[in-house]
Amino acid sequence: MIDAVMGRLGVPEALYRQGDYPVTSPTDGAEIGRIALEGADAVESRIARARHAFEQWSRVPAPRRGELVRLFGEQLRRHKEDLGTLVTLECGKILQEGLGEVQEMIDICDLAVGQSRQLYGLTIASERPGHHMRESWHPLGPVGLITAFNFPVAPWAWNAALALVCGDSLLWKPSEKTPLSALACQALLERAMAEFGDEAPADLSQVILGDREAGERLADDPRVPLISATGSTRMGREVAPRVAARFGRSILELGGNNAMILAPSADLDMAVRAILFSAVGTAGQRCTTLRRLIVHESIRDEVLERVKTAYTGISIGDPMAGNLVGPLIDAQAYDQMQSALDRARQQGARVFGGERQLAETYPNGYYVAPAIVEVPGQDELVKNETFAPILYVMSYRDFDEALALNNGVPQGLSSCVFTTDVREAEAFVSDQGSDCGIANVNIGPSGAEIGGAFGGEKETGGGRESGSDVWKSYMRRQTNTVNYSRELPLAQGIRFD
Ligand code: NAD
Repeated sequence: MIDAVMGRLGVPEALYRQGDYPVTSPTDGAEIGRIALEGADAVESRIARARHAFEQWSRVPAPRRGELVRLFGEQLRRHKEDLGTLVTLECGKILQEGLGEVQEMIDICDLAVGQSRQLYGLTIASERPGHHMRESWHPLGPVGLITAFNFPVAPWAWNAALALVCGDSLLWKPSEKTPLSALACQALLERAMAEFGDEAPADLSQVILGDREAGERLADDPRVPLISATGSTRMGREVAPRVAARFGRSILELGGNNAMILAPSADLDMAVRAILFSAVGTAGQRCTTLRRLIVHESIRDEVLERVKTAYTGISIGDPMAGNLVGPLIDAQAYDQMQSALDRARQQGARVFGGERQLAETYPNGYYVAPAIVEVPGQDELVKNETFAPILYVMSYRDFDEALALNNGVPQGLSSCVFTTDVREAEAFVSDQGSDCGIANVNIGPSGAEIGGAFGGEKETGGGRESGSDVWKSYMRRQTNTVNYSRELPLAQGIRFD
């Protein structure tokens, strides 16, 4: 199956069959490819080529650059099924979610095409007569992209589509767990470039097949003015100071620890459905996965019973076969989940679910029953992101207490409240409410759409991607003061004669 899909996506076999680094499918642990990891010299040469490509691309008018992104979006529409399938085979999310990821890529292309005609600056009133003051936006340079395994294609596209219309070239280091999806995106972009014509330089977009070392090389290089890195907080802690040491810019999209406050007035049918999708979708391996349920004590028992019943009905298995929950990415993820559950048990928490599933059918595939863990309070274990389907449940008495719990973790990505009380809803999204980058009302914390800025505060890294005014991150701002008078007045009324 993999060869047929890769063939239709236009990836030459030589790129994914001839290396010595094995790529496996989490579905059953079978090898689906072998890639050659690139060393420091290869990264060095790619950066030089990206710089050269930038010099050419930045001269192409922005609406014309938008045309390339439009053509790329068309390629994605045509190959949505194949790319979605590849994402599923390589990272193990169910096909519906694989297709959803490709749809997000199409949506960001649409947004970026429109944006290519709206890279607008400002005119600002000057205090000096006969002067114009303006703010202009210029292309920035090569953008270095480091991405995580759990969203192997969409976060790249959030950055790439906007960076391309902004006049930048791309250097993408995907997760070493999901390199084939990256090769496929590159192949589709190259098809769009061929259709677009000569104005798109050959090295406009490059994939670096490498591990953490390749990422570090990228982070250290001053020829790459912006690093956009998606992954764990641990990775962000390593990347951020390296980029800062050379005064580069970074967009960091790191770990989350997302909560739902469930108030007594909530529509519980809706809330239970939202809990299910956001806590077990992608087998708990979304940065926005619901990890903490903060439920009012008066409805705790009823909610727990309904959620446990819903959990019991989930189909777990082959992500290509219509199940709701696929495998964890690998054995290490499984071990981390089990060790978190063991610690919870030692601390007296009540654990529901969490057992390995289908081990006989898939000895090398790590399927688990999503877990619900009733904890007495928000201790260190709960404050950590364990990248697996574990839902910690806590209860609250008054809304301020719930808000304090929502905000009482180091991460600040996504959050939500389910309530029909307008005061609680508005308080949650107010400046005194949730401290997260995303705060939703009567919608779960995961499943963001293109258009809003996506990202989070605190240890989530502070980056924003995929909508609103984030295109500005991919450009450099310039303030221009133009004197069209015959005098030379100084600002602040300073006299210098
Ligand atoms: P990871 O941190 O292990 O790896 C992410 C990427 O960083 C990989 O490409 C890896 O090779 C690279 N990397 C690792 N160490 C590096 C270093 N020192 N220098 C440069 N590059 C380095 O993360 P993962 O296991 O692939 O993904 C899961 C994590 O990503 C979770 O914490 C999840 O919450 C987070 N995530 C966040 C978002 C978001 O938008 N906030 C989105 C998806 C995933």
